[in-house]
Amino acid sequence: MSPCEALNHCPTLKRQAFVRWDLEAKRPLWEYKTRDVQYLLQGIADDNNLSSETLKHIKAFLSGVFTYAKNQGVIDGLNPVRDAMIPKKAATSEETYAASLEEVLAIMDVLGKAGEKKARAAVALVFFAGLRPGEARGAHWEDYDGKRLFVRRSIWRVWTTSPKTESSVKPVPVIEPLRSILVELREGDRNASTGPILRGPSGSPLDLVNLAERVVKPALLRCAVCKQREAKHAGACHDFQLDETLPKWHGWYSLRRGVATAVADLSNSLAAKGLLRHSSVSTTERHYIKDVPESTLQAMKQLETLCNECANHGQVKPN
Ligand SMILES: [Zn+2]
Repeated sequence: MSPCEALNHCPTLKRQAFVRWDLEAKRPLWEYKTRDVQYLLQGIADDNNLSSETLKHIKAFLSGVFTYAKNQGVIDGLNPVRDAMIPKKAATSEETYAASLEEVLAIMDVLGKAGEKKARAAVALVFFAGLRPGEARGAHWEDYDGKRLFVRRSIWRVWTTSPKTESSVKPVPVIEPLRSILVELREGDRNASTGPILRGPSGSPLDLVNLAERVVKPALLRCAVCKQREAKHAGACHDFQLDETLPKWHGWYSLRRGVATAVADLSNSLAAKGLLRHSSVSTTERHYIKDVPESTLQAMKQLETLCNECANHGQVKPN
């Protein structure tokens, strides 16, 4: 399949490339260097968890754009796309691992007990709302009406995608325990009504990669003997022994995959698609499904019930 065929086959790829491009639209084509194209590709890869094969297609598409521009006399010299490298993919387990509901609840429990409310809310947002990490960063209080969260923007590094260009502006149902967590977070944030839900002290959106490294991962590295964190274990009179009862961290996408798996198990793949807002449904559906699909809503309600059962029956190991 040629890149053109691939792109016609999958219009979302073209859209992704253009959405990302739009972020840097203030920069004219002739100012692009290979490094900029590399950033562009990295951004698309980070936001969408694409295979390197798909990224190659996107690169070929971008290259075509610059070739055209060169022929039109807009740019001169080398095509900056030519030497841009395809971003290296994440570790294998991070690509495929789907976190289970029990694991996610256990991670949230550890973070809650450690007083890491923002990190817990981030985990809950990505899992229970099925958001991409960039979308969780871009979620604002004004997008949330108490029942639904409208996914209007995505943030990658310092760039925000414009809501108009995102065809995935669809609401996701907000179920328990996410609802309660958001209530608590909002109260702790002086009842904020606007701005990023996940924000740092300066008010700017939290960097989730950084949050995972700084807060989530260390919280899960606990000693089985004394329950002390690895980072604070140096003074103990015994060797650190990793507490294997705590789940391992497999990256933000493992949460999104996890909820898709859970919802698909509870109902059907269409419900999962509804939650993840994939545009691989037919054009008709893309245009006419304005709200949360009924099947998604039903499956999410079941997931909510399951969470309550887990909590009530103590299926989640106490930490
Ligand atoms: Zn210990």
